[in-house]
Amino acid sequence: MTPTGRQIDDIRNLIRASVTTDVALSRFTSFKIGGPSDLVIEPKNLEELKKLILYLDQEKITRVVLGAGTNVLFHDKGFRGVVIRTAALDSLEIHENGSDFCKVLLAAGAPLPHVVSMVCRHGLKGLEPLWGIPGSLGGAVVTNAGAGDVCIGEFLESVKLVNRCGRELAIGRGDLKYGYRYMSLPQGSTVVEGILKLSRGDKDSITEELERSKARRRGKQPLDRPNAGCVFKNPSPDNPAGAVIDRLGFKGVCVGGAEVSPIHANFIVNRGNATAANVLELIEQIRSTAYEKANVNLDLEICVIGEDVGND
Ligand SMILES: Cc1cc2nc3c(=O)[nH]c(=O)nc-3n(C[C@H](O)[C@H](O)[C@H](O)COP(=O)(O)OP(=O)(O)OC[C@H]3O[C@@H](n4cnc5c(N)ncnc54)[C@H](O)[C@@H]3O)c2cc1C
Repeated sequence: MTPTGRQIDDIRNLIRASVTTDVALSRFTSFKIGGPSDLVIEPKNLEELKKLILYLDQEKITRVVLGAGTNVLFHDKGFRGVVIRTAALDSLEIHENGSDFCKVLLAAGAPLPHVVSMVCRHGLKGLEPLWGIPGSLGGAVVTNAGAGDVCIGEFLESVKLVNRCGRELAIGRGDLKYGYRYMSLPQGSTVVEGILKLSRGDKDSITEELERSKARRRGKQPLDRPNAGCVFKNPSPDNPAGAVIDRLGFKGVCVGGAEVSPIHANFIVNRGNATAANVLELIEQIRSTAYEKANVNLDLEICVIGEDVGND
């Protein structure tokens, strides 16, 4: 639902966050695709976020939460409602307690690349394989981001959420259920904080592991063109989606400005003027061919959002 003028005024009176109207969502996604959003709001702290969510719930305004926008495709018509960006909720604290473990307290908007490099520099091990994932902490938790056999869920000690009515709740490690690109969180909740438990490691071994992670990605991802990472989930660990799509001959296939990357078949890149419709058509071609010719169901890894479909 598009917020009315009165509701926009209410929001501006309620919080001091940046509130912008009619903004192209392509600005906020790594795909550089997406039509306008009625409102984009960047709460400056947890209190503002809670007030905002409570208000949007009371007024029944559709909303979606956006982290770094590296795993989403917004429709060309954009999003009717409010996009809440977590970019300003960016903090990282490393809590030493003299043991072999450290707790790392992260706000939702903390950029994962910064988190990985900070903890590695601090001599904490485990996150090295996540080097190169460009999202925010919140997005990484929701999607249980990972690489190889390692995912963020393994290190989560607890997650703090704001539910759809603006109330805070915490979920401890024992109650967190996660799997491949999946985290069980209450419907409509917003991740506001995560605590990671990381063990101390040998600094040289950490550096070597980081170098191995960099080598695994170098030259294997189309980083010179806008994209949203892997489009499809792997059907199984020994049958990666990229290999399925490659075997079907899709590398280099274009629809408008969208192209299946010649470097990695599970990436669709924006050659400069791609629309969401181009990407969605390419996705449909890949999916139907994979099903008809290889008997493989390809599920989306990227989140397709819009016109008024949010996290509600
Ligand atoms: C070049 C490239 C390489 C990549 N490599 C990998 C990889 O190796 N492994 C991997 O797992 N992913 C990879 N990705 C995908 C992406 O970076 C991850 O999924 C990342 O964790 C998404 O974080 P984000 O902040 O960008 O989320 P967004 O794209 O902003 O959002 C993703 C979803 O999470 C929701 N969301 C975001 N923040 C919150 C929040 N605080 N509370 C509630 N919901 C929220 C959004 O509504 C959306 O549904 C890659 C992407 C790119 C572009």
